[in-house]
Amino acid sequence: MNHNARLQQQYESLGVCKEVYDFGVRIEEGLKERFAALDQTAEFNQAKVLRAMQEARVSAECFQATSGYGYNDLGRDTLEAVYAKCFRGEDALVRPQITCGTHALALALLSNLRPGDELLSPVGKPYDTLEEVIGIRPSKGSLAEYRISYRQVDLLADGSLDYEGIRQAINEKTKLATIQRSKGYASRPTLSVAQIGELVAFIKRIKPDVICMVDNCYGEFVEDKEPLEVGADLIVGSLIKNPGGGLAPIGGYLAGKKECVEHAAYRLTSPGLGKEVGASLGVIQSFYQGLFLAPSVVNGALKGAIFAANLYESLGFDVLPNGSESRHDIIQAVTFRDPRAMTAFCQGIQAAAPVDAYVTPEPWAMPGYDSDVIMAAGAFVQGSSIELSADGPLKPPYTAFFQGGLTWHHAKFGIFMSLQKLYEQNLVNRDLIC
Ligand SMILES: *Cc1c(COP(=O)(O)O)cnc(C)c1O
Repeated sequence: MNHNARLQQQYESLGVCKEVYDFGVRIEEGLKERFAALDQTAEFNQAKVLRAMQEARVSAECFQATSGYGYNDLGRDTLEAVYAKCFRGEDALVRPQITCGTHALALALLSNLRPGDELLSPVGKPYDTLEEVIGIRPSKGSLAEYRISYRQVDLLADGSLDYEGIRQAINEKTKLATIQRSKGYASRPTLSVAQIGELVAFIKRIKPDVICMVDNCYGEFVEDKEPLEVGADLIVGSLIKNPGGGLAPIGGYLAGKKECVEHAAYRLTSPGLGKEVGASLGVIQSFYQGLFLAPSVVNGALKGAIFAANLYESLGFDVLPNGSESRHDIIQAVTFRDPRAMTAFCQGIQAAAPVDAYVTPEPWAMPGYDSDVIMAAGAFVQGSSIELSADGPLKPPYTAFFQGGLTWHHAKFGIFMSLQKLYEQNLVNRDLIC
């Protein structure tokens, strides 16, 4: 029996029928060149991470757990030097005490803005959870409560930046511009690092002292450059997304200008204490090891996203980004226009998971959403979206957001299973598959 037949049987034993398998293999064959280009980026970024670790002199002592105040925590301080070198910042703050991406962003904003300052979002509405941080939706402790005002410039109808609107929005109070790299769960295009560079240069020409902060969530290691290399002052992200490599069990990071990072450190711990305290407990080795693996992990997730885009596009579904466009984050949206198809897709992703594969995700009324939401995730780290996951609100046009996959082969299996569920329930055009 040839290798391909053995592989097909292996997939069949996991529940993927021959028709779905053969269709997927045809799609994959068309992606060889794109995958080779992704491999090059991963190779470049692997070297970047290795160089940062070597230059920072990472040693076995760095992995020791510390407790209490955490004074002189070698592992923590060295890791922050690694992040700073890797992302080309003057300094970094990388902590398990930063609980999630929203927390890291809130920390950056609340520490670098003062009463009377204005925050600008030149890329339209920010990520959902930031609405409460900013005070667009009222919340205790929001920027609005501290008399920090907010201005937003929406993207133009074609998804491009409204440079004239941005020029008009910048005023004597503008202190910080928050630039979200990934589209997140919106339908706008994700910004490339080059586009971020142009935007930062534009803002600085108008007002040089505006702090340009990039919400880097889902963007790390997708390209071979990061936003600090094109002029941004501060990047912020979550360790249960790309840079944690699937191993970090918690955490967030900031990297960039020394002063911006320092402000955040004084806010995270306390004025007067800053970066000097904060024990790394027992998790620091996973931060190092996760960062080391992150370029490969992001490579697998990107292959999964591109495979899903091409597979579902060829079956007639709307996909964003489309099958051929360049990638700047790891999120893939697939629009089903049918609640049953969207549900089947998510159930297939769940059925492919290493953890909780036996549970069936059902739509439910999640707090904060105006419709039922369906979520598929069988992750080692709860809520980790660098692991294979899919979710979305169950309302028209029934778009599922798909992301992650710690390995390409797992992402591929997840997509096979998603299509299998649609195929079994007759929710795809079978003529296109066979
Ligand atoms: C995930 C994400 C956040 C928030 O991170 P959490 O860890 O979910 O709090 C913010 N911005 C973007 C673009 C994200 O993708």
